[in-house]
Amino acid sequence: MRNVQVLMLLIVFLTLFNCKNGDKSNAKTSIPTLSEENIDEMHAEKAENNFGIVIHGGAGTILRKNMTDSLELAYQQKLEEAIRVGHEILKNGGTALDAVTKTINIMEDSPLFNAGKGAVFTHEKRNELDASVMDGETLSAGAVSSVTRIKNPINLALTVMTQSQHVMLSGTGAEEFAALKGFELVDPSYFYTENRMQSLLRTQEREKQTDGDGTTSFFAKDPYMKDSKFGTVGCAALDKNGNLAAGTSTGGMTNKRWNRIGDAPIIGAGTYANNATCAVSSTGWGEYFIRAMVAHDISAMMEYKGVSLEEAAREVIQEKVPALGGDGGIVAIDKDGNVTMEFNTAGMYRAHMNAEGELIVGIYAKE
Ligand code: ASP
Repeated sequence: MRNVQVLMLLIVFLTLFNCKNGDKSNAKTSIPTLSEENIDEMHAEKAENNFGIVIHGGAGTILRKNMTDSLELAYQQKLEEAIRVGHEILKNGGTALDAVTKTINIMEDSPLFNAGKGAVFTHEKRNELDASVMDGETLSAGAVSSVTRIKNPINLALTVMTQSQHVMLSGTGAEEFAALKGFELVDPSYFYTENRMQSLLRTQEREKQTDGDGTTSFFAKDPYMKDSKFGTVGCAALDKNGNLAAGTSTGGMTNKRWNRIGDAPIIGAGTYANNATCAVSSTGWGEYFIRAMVAHDISAMMEYKGVSLEEAAREVIQEKVPALGGDGGIVAIDKDGNVTMEFNTAGMYRAHMNAEGELIVGIYAKE
C-alpha cells in the first residue's frame, strides 16, 4: 500500500515537472516579470484609466445647529446629483472641461447655491453674476463678470474661452457677446429668490445699525457680515486623457455695490488649472483670495517647491489667507488624481468621486 502511495506521488511530481518544462517557451508571455518596463506600462495603464472630480458649493459659517434635517439632505442630494453628472462624463471618456461645466450647471440651476438661480442680491437689489473656467492642457481660460441676464454664466465663460480672442468680458458687453453666440438672455427676475432677498434686507438693516456705508472696513469689523457671501459653486476634474480643468460660478457677496467683482472670475484667484500641477476652484472672501492669488499660488507651490497638492493647499488656506485676515476654502485635484478639499471656515459644501466611483459628501468641518 505504501509503495502505491509513493508511486502515485512520483507520477504527480513528474507530470508537474513536465508541464513546467513544456511551458518554458511561453514563460515570458504568460508570467509577467516585474521589469522596469512592465512597471512603467502598469503605471501608464493606471494613469490612462485614472480620473476624478471634486466640487464645492461654498464655504462659510455653516453650522449643524443652524441646519434642518431636510435642508441638510437637500444639499447632500444636490451635491451628489451634480458630481454624478461630471463623473459619468469622465467615466465615458469625456473631457474634464465638459465635466466641470455640466456639473456646475446643476448647481447654478439650484436655488440652494449662490450661483445662477439663487444668486445673492447687490445693494441695488440686482443679481450680478461672475464665473470663470480654465483648461489645464492649453492654459486657455474664459471669464465673465457682472452679468445679469445669463442663466448659466459658466457656459458663457467657456464660450469666451473657446470662441473669442479674450479671456474676460463683463456686464452688458458680455451679454452682447452672449446674444451673438446664441445664448438666451433671461429676464433678471429669473434669479429672484425670497430667501436671498431676505438676507439682503437683513444685511442692509445691520449696515444701517453699524453706520456702514460700504466705504469702510465694515465687513472686517462685523463677523455677521462675513457670512453675507457663501454658496459659490466650483468644480475641478481630471479626465482619462490626463487633462485637468477647473471652473467657478457665483453671485458674489450680498449687498455688494459699485459693480464689485470678487475672486471667482479672476483666473489665478478663483480658478486655475495646469496639467503640470493641478486644477483648483476657490470659495470664500474674494478680496483676500484675489490678494493671495489662491488658486495659482497652490499650483505654483507644487511647481516651484515640489510640494504635494495637499501640502500646498494647506499652507495657502490655513496659513497665508488667514494671515491676511481672510477665510474660505478650495477644492482641487492634481495630475495624478489626488484630491484635496481644504477650508478654514466652519463648513464647506463639498463632494468628491474617484475613478472607482467612491463618493464622499461633506458639509461641516467635523463630520
Ligand atoms: N468668493 C466669492 C466672492 O467673493 C464668494 C464666495 O465664494 O462665497 O465673490
